[in-house]
Amino acid sequence: MNYLAPLLLVFALFQEIIVGEEFGYDGNLGPLHWGERYQECAGKHQSPININVLHVKQVTLPDLELIGFDDSIDNVHVTNNGHTVLIEVKNEPHPRVRGGPLDGDYIFSQMHFHWGDNDTIGSEDKINHRSFPMELHMVFFKEDYRTPSEAVKHSDGLTVLAFFYELDRHEHPAYDDITSALVNVTEPHTSVVMDHPFSFLNILPYDLKRYFTYRGSLTTPPCSEVVIWLDFEQPIRLEREQIEAFRQIRSAHGKITHNFRPIQPIGDRVVFYNVDSNYYVYNELDETEWTTTHSPSKKKKHGNSAVTTLPTTLHSLSLIFVLFIVL
Ligand SMILES: [Zn+2]
Repeated sequence: MNYLAPLLLVFALFQEIIVGEEFGYDGNLGPLHWGERYQECAGKHQSPININVLHVKQVTLPDLELIGFDDSIDNVHVTNNGHTVLIEVKNEPHPRVRGGPLDGDYIFSQMHFHWGDNDTIGSEDKINHRSFPMELHMVFFKEDYRTPSEAVKHSDGLTVLAFFYELDRHEHPAYDDITSALVNVTEPHTSVVMDHPFSFLNILPYDLKRYFTYRGSLTTPPCSEVVIWLDFEQPIRLEREQIEAFRQIRSAHGKITHNFRPIQPIGDRVVFYNVDSNYYVYNELDETEWTTTHSPSKKKKHGNSAVTTLPTTLHSLSLIFVLFIVL
């Protein structure tokens, strides 16, 4: 019987290591304690943040190029990892992104979701202190660094395309395949292959030109400050039941009712607001003028220059305001 004692000790140590890797969103494992175990979680450039639109710096960055986003992708895996729902692509080549604020190509690694107990909370970043019921993070790693695990060692290693959700009376058909997969991964550490081919573009909003961008971190331990964030302004609209389906996902401790980190101090960081100059040129013109004299596709790009055309639509009044308060 004596040999049992060391065996039990080894088992206990092993468990300690495993438990040591854990984090949660409540109590001793919650975000307030992450910094005790993961030093970077107490850093000065953490995510998420609140984006105050009066303090953003408006820019027109080079076009963002989304490559392979309209491909029909087979063999897409949906996994409950005990913290969130992950969507991973197994077949090569993976979609990629370049342009915008990015220097070089970033290759798709995985996408996942953050949500809340009810429809008033759930997103990680906030806009003017407004929360959204859910947020999608599409994670890409810089091609130069070859693997995601190598990329997180570099300050420009990752980019995350973040999308907010809001409620709609109608269901979003492209999300049916995701919500049907969720039913089969309610238990932690389970995985299924999606029934139908999957296209990134189908689950995204229409406007991919307007986004906020800033330097931040992973929003889960180890909270590495290696992320170029792009938060798209136009939310994705889902029916309430489609969001509710995510709240049925379980961790080892029960239903994951919320998995968003509270906002972190913005510190000395600047948030940039990218506006596509063509968009506003298009909206400024009345239809007759546009159809007779202009074509938006012929309008020249401005590279990194600031937008000089003042928008006239009611929707854009806030942007005019922003122009006066640029940092
Ligand atoms: Zn995330």
